[in-house]
Amino acid sequence: MTASRFSALSHLECSRCASRRYDASQVHGTCDCGAPLLARYDLELLARRLDQGELASRRADLWRYHELLPVTGPDGIVSLGEGMTPLLPMPVLGKALGVPDLLMKDEGLIPTGTFKARGAAVGVSRAAELGVKGVAMPTNGNAGAAWAVYAARAGLPSLIAMPVGAPEITRAECVAAGAELYLVDGLINDAGALIASAVRHRPGYQDTSTMKEPYRLEGKKTMGLEIAEQLGWRFPDVLVYPTGGGVGIIGIHKAMLELRELGWVTGELPRMVCVQATGCAPIVRAFERGARESEPWPEASTIAFGITVPKALGDFLVLDSLYQSAGTAIAVEDEAILADQRTVARLEGCFICPEGAACFTAVRRLREAGWLTERDRVVVLNTGTGLKYPGTIGVRAGADIPVLAKSGSIPEQPRTRQRCRT
Ligand SMILES: *Cc1c(COP(=O)(O)O)cnc(C)c1O
Repeated sequence: MTASRFSALSHLECSRCASRRYDASQVHGTCDCGAPLLARYDLELLARRLDQGELASRRADLWRYHELLPVTGPDGIVSLGEGMTPLLPMPVLGKALGVPDLLMKDEGLIPTGTFKARGAAVGVSRAAELGVKGVAMPTNGNAGAAWAVYAARAGLPSLIAMPVGAPEITRAECVAAGAELYLVDGLINDAGALIASAVRHRPGYQDTSTMKEPYRLEGKKTMGLEIAEQLGWRFPDVLVYPTGGGVGIIGIHKAMLELRELGWVTGELPRMVCVQATGCAPIVRAFERGARESEPWPEASTIAFGITVPKALGDFLVLDSLYQSAGTAIAVEDEAILADQRTVARLEGCFICPEGAACFTAVRRLREAGWLTERDRVVVLNTGTGLKYPGTIGVRAGADIPVLAKSGSIPEQPRTRQRCRT
């Protein structure tokens, strides 16, 4: 396949045995060796054709980077208006944590309320363009919801399996969008096994599990492109990411390598921080051991449901990005995550998801440990809105919030606020 004006996509390449190449104009899952495939672009040609300054006049969505995305023409785009989410300064929280130059990329403001919309927009667009007849995936909820709505937008059927424990709102999104939904009495890996055997009997359906097809990663990559552009074509010093399957962190790292190769950004790559919950921290454990791969985490459980992934197919790519960028990995407890979810809302007005909150807990710990300094420019990824996790905040009438009789009265003095750690 040769690069077009619209997309510089040239071929697919195995992430493990990099010499193995695949034709990008055909539908592919993983490499024959089982490792994820990566989309490769003709960056040399693109660097000659396009200057990053030209992007400024384009529409503020992720398709502004279409040369670095796999869809080969504007007609192939399936969009709900995703991308160019705000990169918010967090001055009050930053000061409290001792990291004054703290920024938050807020993915809560994207269709479906989580960054999974990026992977779905690009993945579904490309699948439809290549003639895939249906998409099938296991999910912890948010990805399924995103793929269900984008599939509906593309006129494709979707087959989704999620743990019964996944956030209920994501079921509603799948059902509303007409997905064929199954709840599984198990974890995402169990749902994955069921999907893998189901697609064998569904001609034309593609298994779009995390890292089992190459294009979801390309959608998530756009977070890295946006961060660099929003910082004036610079990298931050540190990037903090809540890691489940790892697509986001692998994608951002890939984006930054491509930007460097294009010559659009120079300088050191940001130190990548992989954040997991203590109830499911396979990559943190592997990092601490200096391992190349993770071991499956037994009895995985955390309130940050989006990062409950006991064993990720792309774990070695996450670990590579940490080793290559002088990054680190850290696990935080659910209790601290919930406390910081409130702290962020109280100090900055941002009601974020627990996965995002885990990153702020990580910033607090890494600053205390001296791994972060007050001079570091730190970007935290908030991967979704708190609105998708209403159960994380106690709001029971009577127990959590006073209920007044019609004839009652509101106290003259403000009620003392809940004690906060910051
Ligand atoms: C899926 C998900 C994550 C983890 O993302 P990966 O790219 O799979 O590591 C983090 N936060 C939220 C809200 C998610 O839905």
